[in-house]
Amino acid sequence: MTPIDAEALIVGGGLAGSMVALELAKAGRGAVLLERSKAAHHKVCGEFLSAETIHYLARHNVDLPALGAISLHSVRLVLRRGIVEDRLPFAAYSLTRSVLDEALLTHAAAAGVVVERNSAVEHLQPQGAAWCASVRDGRSFRSANIFLATGKHDLRGFSRPAGTHRGLIAFKMYYRLTPQQHAQLGAAVELILFPGGYAGLQPVEDGRVNLCLLVTGKCLKSVGSNWAGLVPYLFRHAPHLEERLRGAVSLLDAPLTASHIPYGHMQAASRDGLWHLGDQAAVIPSFCGDGMAIALHSGAVAAHHFLKGDRAETYQLQLRSQLGRRLALATRLSQAMVAWPEAAQIARLVPGLLSRIASMTRIPDTALLR
Ligand SMILES: Cc1cc2nc3c(=O)[nH]c(=O)nc-3n(C[C@H](O)[C@H](O)[C@H](O)COP(=O)(O)OP(=O)(O)OC[C@H]3O[C@@H](n4cnc5c(N)ncnc54)[C@H](O)[C@@H]3O)c2cc1C
Repeated sequence: MTPIDAEALIVGGGLAGSMVALELAKAGRGAVLLERSKAAHHKVCGEFLSAETIHYLARHNVDLPALGAISLHSVRLVLRRGIVEDRLPFAAYSLTRSVLDEALLTHAAAAGVVVERNSAVEHLQPQGAAWCASVRDGRSFRSANIFLATGKHDLRGFSRPAGTHRGLIAFKMYYRLTPQQHAQLGAAVELILFPGGYAGLQPVEDGRVNLCLLVTGKCLKSVGSNWAGLVPYLFRHAPHLEERLRGAVSLLDAPLTASHIPYGHMQAASRDGLWHLGDQAAVIPSFCGDGMAIALHSGAVAAHHFLKGDRAETYQLQLRSQLGRRLALATRLSQAMVAWPEAAQIARLVPGLLSRIASMTRIPDTALLR
Protein backbone atom coordinates (compact mmCIF):
# COMPACT_ATOMS: atom_id res chain seq x y z
CA MET A 1 0.00 0.00 0.00
CA THR A 2 1.36 3.49 -0.81
CA PRO A 3 2.18 5.39 2.37
CA ILE A 4 0.01 8.37 3.24
CA ASP A 5 2.18 11.50 3.50
CA ALA A 6 1.87 13.88 6.42
CA GLU A 7 3.69 17.10 7.23
CA ALA A 8 3.76 16.07 10.88
CA LEU A 9 2.90 12.64 12.22
CA ILE A 10 1.95 12.22 15.86
CA VAL A 11 2.02 8.73 17.31
CA GLY A 12 -0.22 8.52 20.39
CA GLY A 13 -3.27 10.60 21.23
CA GLY A 14 -2.94 11.12 24.97
CA LEU A 15 -2.31 14.57 26.42
CA ALA A 16 1.11 15.11 24.86
CA GLY A 17 0.02 14.01 21.40
CA SER A 18 -3.17 16.07 21.46
CA MET A 19 -1.30 19.13 22.70
CA VAL A 20 1.30 19.15 19.94
CA ALA A 21 -1.48 18.50 17.42
CA LEU A 22 -3.51 21.45 18.70
CA GLU A 23 -0.50 23.77 18.62
CA LEU A 24 0.38 22.79 15.05
CA ALA A 25 -3.23 23.17 13.90
CA LYS A 26 -3.41 26.60 15.54
CA ALA A 27 -0.40 27.62 13.43
CA GLY A 28 -2.13 26.31 10.31
CA ARG A 29 0.19 23.32 9.86
CA GLY A 30 -0.96 19.89 8.77
CA ALA A 31 -0.88 17.10 11.33
CA VAL A 32 -2.01 13.49 11.38
CA LEU A 33 -2.48 11.85 14.79
CA LEU A 34 -2.56 8.06 15.15
CA GLU A 35 -4.22 6.75 18.31
CA ARG A 36 -4.36 3.08 19.20
CA SER A 37 -7.65 3.06 21.12
CA LYS A 38 -11.03 3.00 19.40
CA ALA A 39 -12.82 5.14 21.97
CA ALA A 40 -12.55 6.82 25.36
CA HIS A 41 -10.89 4.55 27.91
CA HIS A 42 -9.61 4.59 31.47
CA LYS A 43 -5.92 5.10 32.17
CA VAL A 44 -3.78 4.38 35.21
CA CYS A 45 -3.57 7.90 36.62
CA GLY A 46 -4.43 9.70 39.87
CA GLU A 47 -6.29 12.30 37.75
CA PHE A 48 -5.04 15.27 39.75
CA LEU A 49 -4.87 18.35 37.52
CA SER A 50 -2.21 20.77 38.72
CA ALA A 51 -2.07 24.50 38.03
CA GLU A 52 0.30 23.88 35.12
CA THR A 53 -2.09 21.36 33.61
CA ILE A 54 -4.93 23.83 33.98
CA HIS A 55 -2.79 26.54 32.37
CA TYR A 56 -2.18 24.47 29.23
CA LEU A 57 -5.76 23.27 28.98
CA ALA A 58 -6.99 26.87 29.19
CA ARG A 59 -4.62 27.72 26.30
CA HIS A 60 -6.92 25.64 24.11
CA ASN A 61 -10.18 26.67 25.77
CA VAL A 62 -10.83 23.36 27.51
CA ASP A 63 -13.61 24.23 29.95
CA LEU A 64 -12.88 22.00 32.94
CA PRO A 65 -15.98 22.79 35.06
CA ALA A 66 -18.17 22.16 31.98
CA LEU A 67 -16.57 18.71 31.66
CA GLY A 68 -17.46 17.99 35.27
CA ALA A 69 -14.04 18.61 36.87
CA ILE A 70 -13.99 18.89 40.67
CA SER A 71 -12.13 21.77 42.28
CA LEU A 72 -9.62 20.65 44.96
CA HIS A 73 -8.40 22.90 47.77
CA SER A 74 -6.13 20.98 50.09
CA VAL A 75 -3.61 18.19 50.36
CA ARG A 76 -3.58 15.74 53.26
CA LEU A 77 -0.50 13.68 53.97
CA VAL A 78 -1.57 10.64 55.97
CA LEU A 79 1.23 9.11 58.02
CA ARG A 80 1.19 6.22 60.40
CA ARG A 81 1.23 8.64 63.32
CA GLY A 82 -0.92 11.55 62.25
CA ILE A 83 -2.13 13.67 59.36
CA VAL A 84 -0.64 16.86 57.99
CA GLU A 85 -3.00 19.07 56.02
CA ASP A 86 -2.08 22.13 53.94
CA ARG A 87 -3.98 24.29 51.52
CA LEU A 88 -2.79 23.60 47.99
CA PRO A 89 -0.50 26.45 46.97
CA PHE A 90 -2.22 26.62 43.55
CA ALA A 91 -5.59 25.98 41.89
CA ALA A 92 -6.22 22.31 41.17
CA TYR A 93 -8.94 20.09 39.74
CA SER A 94 -9.60 16.41 39.25
CA LEU A 95 -11.15 14.89 36.12
CA THR A 96 -11.17 11.33 34.79
CA ARG A 97 -8.79 10.69 31.91
CA SER A 98 -11.50 9.06 29.84
CA VAL A 99 -13.28 12.44 29.75
CA LEU A 100 -10.21 14.68 29.55
CA ASP A 101 -8.31 12.78 26.83
CA GLU A 102 -11.44 12.48 24.73
CA ALA A 103 -12.17 16.19 25.06
CA LEU A 104 -8.69 17.05 23.82
CA LEU A 105 -8.91 14.69 20.87
CA THR A 106 -12.28 16.21 19.95
CA HIS A 107 -10.73 19.70 20.15
CA ALA A 108 -7.83 18.56 17.95
CA ALA A 109 -10.16 17.13 15.30
CA ALA A 110 -12.28 20.31 15.36
CA ALA A 111 -9.09 22.37 14.87
CA GLY A 112 -8.33 20.46 11.67
CA VAL A 113 -6.03 17.67 12.85
CA VAL A 114 -6.60 14.37 11.07
CA VAL A 115 -7.31 12.09 14.05
CA GLU A 116 -7.12 8.37 13.20
CA ARG A 117 -8.56 6.16 15.96
CA ASN A 118 -8.04 2.42 16.18
CA SER A 119 -4.63 3.01 14.58
CA ALA A 120 -1.89 1.28 16.57
CA VAL A 121 1.55 1.90 15.13
CA GLU A 122 3.51 -1.33 15.06
CA HIS A 123 6.77 -0.21 13.44
CA LEU A 124 8.54 3.03 12.87
CA GLN A 125 11.37 2.90 10.37
CA PRO A 126 13.59 5.44 8.67
CA GLN A 127 12.91 5.80 4.96
CA GLY A 128 15.39 8.14 3.28
CA ALA A 129 15.07 11.54 4.96
CA ALA A 130 11.67 10.59 6.39
CA TRP A 131 10.10 7.95 8.64
CA CYS A 132 7.48 5.38 7.83
CA ALA A 133 4.95 4.30 10.47
CA SER A 134 3.15 1.00 9.85
CA VAL A 135 -0.28 0.66 11.40
CA ARG A 136 -1.74 -2.68 12.53
CA ASP A 137 -4.49 -2.56 9.87
CA GLY A 138 -1.89 -2.49 7.06
CA ARG A 139 -1.86 1.23 6.30
CA SER A 140 1.38 3.20 6.52
CA PHE A 141 2.10 6.89 7.02
CA ARG A 142 5.23 8.78 5.97
CA SER A 143 6.61 11.98 7.43
CA ALA A 144 9.93 13.72 8.08
CA ASN A 145 8.56 14.98 11.41
CA ILE A 146 7.59 12.36 13.95
CA PHE A 147 6.23 13.24 17.38
CA LEU A 148 6.49 10.20 19.62
CA ALA A 149 3.75 10.41 22.28
CA THR A 150 2.92 6.80 23.14
CA GLY A 151 3.01 7.41 26.91
CA LYS A 152 4.03 4.40 28.92
CA HIS A 153 4.11 2.13 25.84
CA ASP A 154 7.42 2.00 24.05
CA LEU A 155 7.41 1.39 20.32
CA ARG A 156 9.50 -1.55 19.24
CA GLY A 157 13.11 -0.35 18.89
CA PHE A 158 12.48 2.81 20.95
CA SER A 159 12.61 1.51 24.52
CA ARG A 160 13.33 4.02 27.24
CA PRO A 161 15.93 3.27 29.92
CA ALA A 162 14.52 1.77 33.14
CA GLY A 163 14.56 5.05 35.11
CA THR A 164 16.11 5.66 38.52
CA HIS A 165 13.18 4.57 40.71
CA ARG A 166 12.20 1.17 39.43
CA GLY A 167 10.17 -1.79 40.50
CA LEU A 168 6.90 -0.07 41.47
CA ILE A 169 3.58 -1.45 40.33
CA ALA A 170 0.59 0.87 39.93
CA PHE A 171 -3.08 0.08 40.66
CA LYS A 172 -6.12 2.23 40.07
CA MET A 173 -9.70 1.69 41.18
CA TYR A 174 -12.81 3.88 41.29
CA TYR A 175 -15.11 3.67 44.31
CA ARG A 176 -18.40 5.08 45.44
CA LEU A 177 -18.04 6.00 49.12
CA THR A 178 -20.79 6.34 51.63
CA PRO A 179 -22.08 9.95 51.90
CA GLN A 180 -20.30 10.29 55.25
CA GLN A 181 -16.97 9.04 53.88
CA HIS A 182 -17.31 11.31 50.85
CA ALA A 183 -17.94 14.33 53.07
CA GLN A 184 -14.91 13.47 55.20
CA LEU A 185 -12.69 13.31 52.13
CA GLY A 186 -14.07 16.69 51.01
CA ALA A 187 -12.25 18.71 48.35
CA ALA A 188 -8.87 17.23 49.23
CA VAL A 189 -6.31 15.00 47.65
CA GLU A 190 -4.97 12.55 50.20
CA LEU A 191 -1.51 11.03 49.99
CA ILE A 192 -1.41 7.97 52.19
CA LEU A 193 1.90 6.32 53.05
CA PHE A 194 2.18 2.64 53.94
CA PRO A 195 5.12 0.24 54.19
CA GLY A 196 6.05 -0.64 50.62
CA GLY A 197 4.34 2.20 48.79
CA TYR A 198 1.91 5.08 48.77
CA ALA A 199 -1.64 5.78 47.64
CA GLY A 200 -3.51 8.83 46.38
CA LEU A 201 -7.23 9.28 47.01
CA GLN A 202 -9.38 12.08 45.64
CA PRO A 203 -12.91 12.77 44.47
CA VAL A 204 -13.59 12.81 40.73
CA GLU A 205 -16.77 13.62 38.81
CA ASP A 206 -20.09 11.78 39.18
CA GLY A 207 -19.63 11.19 42.90
CA ARG A 208 -16.77 8.73 42.42
CA VAL A 209 -13.35 8.69 44.07
CA ASN A 210 -10.10 7.63 42.47
CA LEU A 211 -7.72 5.43 44.44
CA CYS A 212 -4.38 5.19 42.67
CA LEU A 213 -1.43 3.55 44.38
CA LEU A 214 2.09 2.34 43.91
CA VAL A 215 3.55 -0.66 45.63
CA THR A 216 6.95 -2.34 45.41
CA GLY A 217 7.16 -5.71 43.67
CA LYS A 218 8.44 -7.23 46.92
CA CYS A 219 5.48 -5.99 48.92
CA LEU A 220 3.00 -7.16 46.28
CA LYS A 221 4.60 -10.59 46.19
CA SER A 222 4.33 -10.86 49.98
CA VAL A 223 0.52 -10.47 49.74
CA GLY A 224 0.06 -13.05 46.99
CA SER A 225 0.69 -10.81 43.97
CA ASN A 226 -2.94 -9.84 43.60
CA TRP A 227 -5.47 -7.13 44.44
CA ALA A 228 -7.48 -9.42 46.72
CA GLY A 229 -4.40 -9.80 48.90
CA LEU A 230 -3.30 -6.19 48.62
CA VAL A 231 -6.51 -4.54 49.88
CA PRO A 232 -6.45 -6.21 53.35
CA TYR A 233 -2.73 -5.40 53.59
CA LEU A 234 -3.49 -1.72 52.89
CA PHE A 235 -6.29 -1.67 55.45
CA ARG A 236 -4.01 -3.25 58.05
CA HIS A 237 -1.11 -0.85 57.52
CA ALA A 238 -3.06 2.29 56.63
CA PRO A 239 -6.16 2.34 58.90
CA HIS A 240 -7.09 5.71 57.40
CA LEU A 241 -7.65 4.00 54.06
CA GLU A 242 -9.82 1.40 55.71
CA GLU A 243 -11.87 4.15 57.31
CA ARG A 244 -12.31 5.82 53.90
CA LEU A 245 -13.11 2.65 51.94
CA ARG A 246 -14.91 0.33 54.35
CA GLY A 247 -18.21 -0.53 52.72
CA ALA A 248 -17.40 1.51 49.60
CA VAL A 249 -18.49 0.07 46.26
CA SER A 250 -15.79 -0.79 43.68
CA LEU A 251 -16.81 0.61 40.30
CA LEU A 252 -14.47 -1.35 38.03
CA ASP A 253 -14.56 -5.13 37.63
CA ALA A 254 -10.83 -5.20 38.34
CA PRO A 255 -8.25 -2.51 39.04
CA LEU A 256 -6.21 -1.11 36.17
CA THR A 257 -2.51 -1.86 36.58
CA ALA A 258 0.81 -0.74 35.15
CA SER A 259 4.35 -1.92 35.77
CA HIS A 260 7.88 -1.14 34.56
CA ILE A 261 7.25 2.57 35.01
CA PRO A 262 10.62 4.30 34.45
CA TYR A 263 10.30 6.97 37.15
CA GLY A 264 13.09 9.51 36.87
CA HIS A 265 13.54 8.94 33.13
CA MET A 266 14.60 12.11 31.33
CA GLN A 267 15.19 11.82 27.61
CA ALA A 268 18.72 12.73 26.58
CA ALA A 269 19.18 14.91 23.49
CA SER A 270 17.68 12.62 20.87
CA ARG A 271 20.01 11.82 18.01
CA ASP A 272 17.29 9.94 16.15
CA GLY A 273 15.61 13.22 15.14
CA LEU A 274 12.29 12.23 16.76
CA TRP A 275 10.39 14.58 19.03
CA HIS A 276 9.92 12.60 22.26
CA LEU A 277 6.91 13.93 24.20
CA GLY A 278 5.12 13.28 27.50
CA ASP A 279 6.10 10.10 29.30
CA GLN A 280 8.36 9.31 26.37
CA ALA A 281 10.40 12.39 27.35
CA ALA A 282 10.18 12.57 31.15
CA VAL A 283 8.54 10.45 33.87
CA ILE A 284 8.00 12.27 37.16
CA PRO A 285 6.98 10.29 40.27
CA SER A 286 3.23 10.15 40.56
CA PHE A 287 2.96 11.77 44.01
CA CYS A 288 3.85 15.12 42.35
CA GLY A 289 0.65 15.06 40.28
CA ASP A 290 2.44 16.89 37.47
CA GLY A 291 2.94 14.17 34.83
CA MET A 292 -0.02 15.45 32.80
CA ALA A 293 1.38 18.98 32.95
CA ILE A 294 4.72 17.72 31.67
CA ALA A 295 2.93 15.92 28.84
CA LEU A 296 1.07 19.10 27.83
CA HIS A 297 4.14 21.31 28.32
CA SER A 298 6.34 19.03 26.22
CA GLY A 299 3.77 19.09 23.42
CA ALA A 300 3.58 22.89 23.49
CA VAL A 301 7.36 23.40 23.71
CA ALA A 302 8.03 20.87 20.94
CA ALA A 303 5.53 22.59 18.64
CA HIS A 304 7.08 25.97 19.46
CA HIS A 305 10.54 24.74 18.39
CA PHE A 306 9.20 22.89 15.36
CA LEU A 307 7.41 26.01 14.14
CA LYS A 308 10.63 28.02 14.54
CA GLY A 309 12.42 25.50 12.32
CA ASP A 310 14.56 24.08 15.16
CA ARG A 311 15.69 20.49 15.30
CA ALA A 312 14.22 18.01 17.78
CA GLU A 313 17.51 17.95 19.66
CA THR A 314 17.19 21.66 20.55
CA TYR A 315 13.74 21.05 22.03
CA GLN A 316 14.89 18.00 23.96
CA LEU A 317 17.81 19.94 25.49
CA GLN A 318 15.53 22.77 26.55
CA LEU A 319 13.06 20.40 28.18
CA ARG A 320 15.88 18.72 30.03
CA SER A 321 17.27 22.01 31.30
CA GLN A 322 13.79 23.08 32.51
CA LEU A 323 12.83 19.85 34.22
CA GLY A 324 15.95 17.79 34.93
CA ARG A 325 16.75 19.04 38.46
CA ARG A 326 13.12 19.02 39.60
CA LEU A 327 12.59 15.54 38.26
CA ALA A 328 15.73 14.31 40.04
CA LEU A 329 14.55 15.84 43.35
CA ALA A 330 11.06 14.36 42.99
CA THR A 331 12.55 10.95 42.25
CA ARG A 332 14.78 11.05 45.34
CA LEU A 333 11.79 12.03 47.48
CA SER A 334 9.72 9.21 46.01
CA GLN A 335 12.50 6.72 46.77
CA ALA A 336 12.72 8.01 50.35
CA MET A 337 8.93 7.85 50.84
CA VAL A 338 8.86 4.21 49.84
CA ALA A 339 12.04 3.14 51.64
CA TRP A 340 11.58 5.14 54.88
CA PRO A 341 7.93 6.18 55.27
CA GLU A 342 8.74 7.15 58.87
CA ALA A 343 11.04 9.92 57.60
CA ALA A 344 7.94 11.69 56.25
CA GLN A 345 7.05 12.47 59.90
CA ILE A 346 9.25 15.52 59.41
CA ALA A 347 6.33 17.09 57.53
CA ARG A 348 4.52 17.24 60.89
CA LEU A 349 7.31 19.31 62.40
CA VAL A 350 7.93 21.79 59.59
CA PRO A 351 4.87 23.93 58.83
CA GLY A 352 4.38 24.57 55.10
CA LEU A 353 6.81 21.82 54.07
CA LEU A 354 4.22 20.11 51.86
CA SER A 355 3.54 23.31 49.91
CA ARG A 356 7.26 23.96 49.54
CA ILE A 357 7.88 20.46 48.20
CA ALA A 358 4.90 20.83 45.86
CA SER A 359 6.42 24.03 44.44
CA MET A 360 9.90 22.57 44.04
CA THR A 361 8.83 19.46 42.15
CA ARG A 362 6.84 20.93 39.29
CA ILE A 363 7.39 22.80 36.05
CA PRO A 364 8.73 26.22 37.02
CA ASP A 365 6.29 29.02 36.33
CA THR A 366 8.85 30.84 34.22
CA ALA A 367 9.09 27.87 31.83
CA LEU A 368 5.38 27.76 30.96
CA LEU A 369 4.54 28.91 27.44
CA ARG A 370 2.17 31.88 27.58
C1 LIG B 1 0.13 5.57 39.10
C2 LIG B 1 0.15 6.87 38.34
C3 LIG B 1 -0.53 7.97 38.84
C4 LIG B 1 -0.47 9.19 38.16
N1 LIG B 1 -1.16 10.25 38.66
C5 LIG B 1 -1.08 11.45 38.04
C6 LIG B 1 -1.81 12.57 38.53
O1 LIG B 1 -2.61 12.47 39.47
N2 LIG B 1 -1.65 13.78 37.90
C7 LIG B 1 -0.81 13.93 36.83
O2 LIG B 1 -0.68 15.06 36.33
N3 LIG B 1 -0.15 12.88 36.32
C8 LIG B 1 -0.26 11.65 36.88
N4 LIG B 1 0.38 10.58 36.35
C9 LIG B 1 1.18 10.75 35.13
C10 LIG B 1 0.34 10.87 33.88
O3 LIG B 1 -0.66 9.89 33.85
C11 LIG B 1 1.24 10.72 32.63
O4 LIG B 1 2.42 11.45 32.83
C12 LIG B 1 0.53 11.23 31.39
O5 LIG B 1 -0.61 10.45 31.12
C13 LIG B 1 1.45 11.17 30.19
O6 LIG B 1 0.75 11.59 29.04
P1 LIG B 1 1.19 11.05 27.62
O7 LIG B 1 0.39 11.82 26.63
O8 LIG B 1 2.67 11.06 27.52
O9 LIG B 1 0.78 9.51 27.63
P2 LIG B 1 -0.66 8.83 27.69
O10 LIG B 1 -1.64 9.68 28.34
O11 LIG B 1 -0.42 7.48 28.26
O12 LIG B 1 -1.07 8.70 26.17
C14 LIG B 1 -0.40 7.88 25.28
C15 LIG B 1 -1.36 7.48 24.18
O13 LIG B 1 -0.66 6.78 23.17
C16 LIG B 1 -1.47 5.71 22.71
N5 LIG B 1 -0.56 4.71 22.16
C17 LIG B 1 0.30 3.90 22.82
N6 LIG B 1 0.97 3.13 21.96
C18 LIG B 1 0.53 3.46 20.73
C19 LIG B 1 0.85 2.99 19.43
N7 LIG B 1 1.76 2.04 19.24
N8 LIG B 1 0.20 3.54 18.37
C20 LIG B 1 -0.73 4.52 18.54
N9 LIG B 1 -1.08 4.99 19.77
C21 LIG B 1 -0.44 4.47 20.84
C22 LIG B 1 -2.21 5.24 23.95
O14 LIG B 1 -3.40 4.56 23.60
C23 LIG B 1 -2.46 6.55 24.67
O15 LIG B 1 -3.71 7.11 24.38
C24 LIG B 1 0.30 9.32 36.97
C25 LIG B 1 0.96 8.20 36.46
C26 LIG B 1 0.88 6.99 37.12
C27 LIG B 1 1.59 5.80 36.55
